[in-house]
Amino acid sequence: MLWNTQTYTGWGRALSAEGELARPERAAALAGLVTHPAIGARRSYGDACLNSKGSAVDMSRLDRVLSFDVSTGLVEAEAGAPIGELARLFAPMGWMPTVMPGTGFATVGGCIAMDVHGKNHHVDGSFGSHVTAIKLMVNGKPRTITPKRNAALFKATIGGLGQTGIIASATLQMSRCEGTGMEVTEQRAENWEEHIALLSSSQARYTVGWLDCTAKGKNLGRGIVEEARSTAVRPQSSHKGGSKSVPFNFPRFTLSKAMVSGFNKAYYLRIRDGGQTRIKPLEEFFFPLDKIHNWNRLYGKSGFHQFQCVLPDDKLPELRAMVETIAQSGLASPLAVLKRLGSDAAGVMSFPMQGYTLAVDFRESEKARKLIKKLNAATLAAGGRIYFAKDSLATEAEAKAMYPDWAAWAAEVNKADPEHTFETDLTRRLGLRSI
Ligand SMILES: Cc1cc2nc3c(=O)[nH]c(=O)nc-3n(C[C@H](O)[C@H](O)[C@H](O)COP(=O)(O)OP(=O)(O)OC[C@H]3O[C@@H](n4cnc5c(N)ncnc54)[C@H](O)[C@@H]3O)c2cc1C
Repeated sequence: MLWNTQTYTGWGRALSAEGELARPERAAALAGLVTHPAIGARRSYGDACLNSKGSAVDMSRLDRVLSFDVSTGLVEAEAGAPIGELARLFAPMGWMPTVMPGTGFATVGGCIAMDVHGKNHHVDGSFGSHVTAIKLMVNGKPRTITPKRNAALFKATIGGLGQTGIIASATLQMSRCEGTGMEVTEQRAENWEEHIALLSSSQARYTVGWLDCTAKGKNLGRGIVEEARSTAVRPQSSHKGGSKSVPFNFPRFTLSKAMVSGFNKAYYLRIRDGGQTRIKPLEEFFFPLDKIHNWNRLYGKSGFHQFQCVLPDDKLPELRAMVETIAQSGLASPLAVLKRLGSDAAGVMSFPMQGYTLAVDFRESEKARKLIKKLNAATLAAGGRIYFAKDSLATEAEAKAMYPDWAAWAAEVNKADPEHTFETDLTRRLGLRSI
């Protein structure tokens, strides 16, 4: 096995690690690699996919589909398979992964380890609820675990931050779809109250809100609510010329307050009064940013942070206050999302809870870090939690208070990995395995 010493980062690029990475091409090679944590496509933003105290196994070449049953929609794929590839492959046959995050590059292993949610969490729940079996490397051998036969280990693995071991492959229950198109209706929400009203009353399977985090006063909370359903109508891509790439790190003024505010206003006004409906290709709806490769370079060399929290339904005034704080700070980028979540959480450490989730990107700076720390504290005070897939700044005390079942999870994980082999920078920073 070839090991390469590399400096590598998560998607936010604000934190980095130096260490050896192995990139196996055959599942058989995993048997010799089980003393290192696994990482996927490094689409988590902070330090969940970093191991600066050692080495890691990059799973991205283990991306084969191992079996597929067209009559049931059950698919077994290696852990490095990107979720978007599964959608592209199977949607023409009438099936797609039931839950997909906002990037198609996330791997099956990464989606399990974070128990990711999609734009349909309020209807279909989280990723782990649609995983029927996992092949986990235990003592050098693949062992199949299922929700019934190994309930405790399974629940510790779903949303388990890779701490129970290397996931070699998994079987997913996909959902029926009409084809490769999505009928997407976009509507303007003039302010916070209208935004929440549209999200909460939506009957669509897929719903998401884009938030203008620069708008203040009577426009606070304005944005665009998208509702979508699968359709057999063939989509026409609005993106001519294929995917684009950001060739270099952008200078600081690219995301200046004035630029962001101008961009957001134009983006908001693009939707006509009364809304509009279009047929979009599936990937354009689910993974809108994937067509711009390396878009994270727009934030410059120092990278960026994403703050993502979920607050319970009855804490909407507190969430509104957070949006106000962000708008006053003038630090937000155009990338801000508001979503409704249901109560389903498949793992002990899963992020989702019934309520509303807010995700906002901030270019790395001392001011941004201070603001995020304030937002983390406000999240805890409101009985909510932040998402480990995005976090780089929470404290151990905050994380443990937000995830009250952490000690039970740690006990199960420490049984599976007594040597703490699979710890990452995130689990060490937050002391999640120190009972
Ligand atoms: C543009 C964008 C949009 C996003 N939108 C959403 C969203 O809508 N909803 C959402 O929930 N998330 C979202 N995310 C976050 C992303 O889905 C998660 O961070 C996901 O875990 C990334 O998968 P990955 O393969 O890149 O994993 P990595 O980031 O490489 O790793 C994440 C974790 O998974 C573990 N892991 C990875 N592979 C394995 C394996 N084979 N065995 C054991 N452990 C493993 C790692 O140790 C680490 O703890 C988004 C990210 C981006 C960049």
